[in-house]
Amino acid sequence: MDLKAHIRGVPDFPKPGILFYDICTLLRDGPAFRAAMTQLADMVRPYKPTMLAGIESRGFVLAAPLALELGLGFILLRKPRKLPGATIGYNYALEYGTDRLEIQADAVKKGDRVVLLDDLLATGGTMSAGIKLLKEAGAEVPLAAGLIELTFLNGRARLDAPFQALVSYD
Ligand code: IMP
Repeated sequence: MDLKAHIRGVPDFPKPGILFYDICTLLRDGPAFRAAMTQLADMVRPYKPTMLAGIESRGFVLAAPLALELGLGFILLRKPRKLPGATIGYNYALEYGTDRLEIQADAVKKGDRVVLLDDLLATGGTMSAGIKLLKEAGAEVPLAAGLIELTFLNGRARLDAPFQALVSYD
């Protein structure tokens, strides 16, 4: 299955000059969604995770069905003040300002092997923050993974974990 054929490039979104890679067109197509999940499962399985984590919100769309497929639990990395109970968080820089990802403080135990998923790796700021957060919580992160990597931004150089994606754009 050629996944790229199902990913739409939207010019000038969310602002002029940005080409946004839209996975909604892939998710809308049952066989393409199925193929992407099978390919992600084959990519992730060799890293022997004990749990999966996803970054709000498109990371959830991938990580939750993948966790089900692999028979694993699923952890939500969310934007601030969305999770009930005690949380731990990690602040990271955006182009303008900062953002923060949080997990529930009891979501991981020391030594859990957590593979982290998001839809797309651009500059790597978001994924890097997620990896740091999981590691601070005591998890090992044997792999970070996505559907798409924008290789020209070299985001993987910022990550404290190996990274793999199903498709790349350069
Ligand atoms: P980064 O932090 O610069 O690596 O940006 C990655 C984050 O922004 C991910 O959570 C993506 O969902 C989102 N993102 C950035 N560019 C795109 C895009 O072209 N398509 C979909 N999501 C994007």
